[in-house]
Amino acid sequence: MRIVLLGAPGSGKGTQATLLVERLGLPHISTGVLLRDAIKRGTKLGLAVREITEKGELVPDDVMSDLVRERLGRDDVAGGFILDGYPRTLEQAEVLDAILEDLGRPVEVAILIDVDTDQIIKRIELRAQEEGRSDDTVEVLRNRMRVYQEKTAPVADYYASRGLLTQVMGTGSREEVLERILSVLQVGTAS
Ligand code: AMP
Repeated sequence: MRIVLLGAPGSGKGTQATLLVERLGLPHISTGVLLRDAIKRGTKLGLAVREITEKGELVPDDVMSDLVRERLGRDDVAGGFILDGYPRTLEQAEVLDAILEDLGRPVEVAILIDVDTDQIIKRIELRAQEEGRSDDTVEVLRNRMRVYQEKTAPVADYYASRGLLTQVMGTGSREEVLERILSVLQVGTAS
């Protein structure tokens, strides 16, 4: 199965991707993880994107295209994948379609984990206070939210217009959200 997971920062997208990987045995491709890894290793890519990611801005589309094209070209994605954190702009969605068309493996389903953004901000602000994090963290989150609304929300419409989008409520426990996603994917939920 070739799955794109969409959702605002803090929607539980990364958590659900991890749970889905366990259930479906598909490779988890998280562009955030790939970038953080490059930053940690101090590669050329890492050095180029560090400041951008720290501010909660988006890495330029052409940089992301190279990264994703390379990753999707590897053998382990032949049986499907769970893409998390990409595409984040309309241009990325178009590039992804082109890459997958070349590979003969188009996106089969896009799942949007739907959460109230005000709720997320409140939750993270509270957590920031409780854990004594700097105000910067809240500021960065707010910026990421703004970027999400402006740049990434239209990506959901892009998949909706192709009949590939399903929205799943992101409220409740992580298991509840997982069950909703599995039922969209028509994967048996009995263990
Ligand atoms: P994430 O872990 O998916 O929230 O990503 C962490 C950060 O990496 C984001 O705030 C962006 O700065 C950057 N990033 C991850 N994926 C992308 C993408 N598809 N396009 C641009 N920047 C990205």
